[in-house]
Amino acid sequence: MLHSPTIEFHLECEGAVCLPRDDSLWQDTGADNTESAATRPDVLVVPPGDVCFLTSSADEDRRPLLTLEAPEGPAVLLEPLIFDGRPVLAAVRPPGDESRVNATFMPRPAVLSAGDRLQLPHGPVLRVRMFSRPEIGPPPAELVGKLCGYCRTPIIKKTTIFVCHNCGIGLHCEDTGPPEKRLRCAQLSSVCPRCTHPVLLKEGYITSPLSREMP
Ligand SMILES: [Zn+2]
Ligand SMILES: [Zn+2]
Repeated sequence: MLHSPTIEFHLECEGAVCLPRDDSLWQDTGADNTESAATRPDVLVVPPGDVCFLTSSADEDRRPLLTLEAPEGPAVLLEPLIFDGRPVLAAVRPPGDESRVNATFMPRPAVLSAGDRLQLPHGPVLRVRMFSRPEIGPPPAELVGKLCGYCRTPIIKKTTIFVCHNCGIGLHCEDTGPPEKRLRCAQLSSVCPRCTHPVLLKEGYITSPLSREMP
């Protein structure tokens, strides 16, 4: 797995910089979440599983923009990847470019995580955030017969599981059937028993200390 299907990287502008609403990378998260990216004029969504380019608008506002096509001017290439077993945002700046990460010149290439602050030359600070869309449902074929990470009983086809976005292990997450028979292993685990990443059962930003991001 090269990228995580359940984690999205968002770039949040610090300060009142408005981005054009018709940008092709606006996404409706479909969630009734007050932090939904769709309602936020200051959040750029990095497309999962794709390479994109971060650049600035040509006018004097120098608004940050994400494009799928390489723009004519200088741009930082971004790609969400799994690195060392965790989701990261890989970034490559153009030669001679003075983009910064956490107020120092950005290495080429750089590996960004939640909480990092990215800044294009003369642009606003963009805070890197990780948005989680939990994977809850029937087990994918490769997890049928594997052990639940919490109760260590085999996962059968007719159950509902939560899949850890970080290590891919399954945890029972049943919400139907007699209450005393429901296996609610995901609800009982605040962190993944295998990799200790937070178990998030609702959409939202990951704000655990593991992500280096302040709550
Ligand atoms: Zn279980
Ligand atoms: Zn895990």
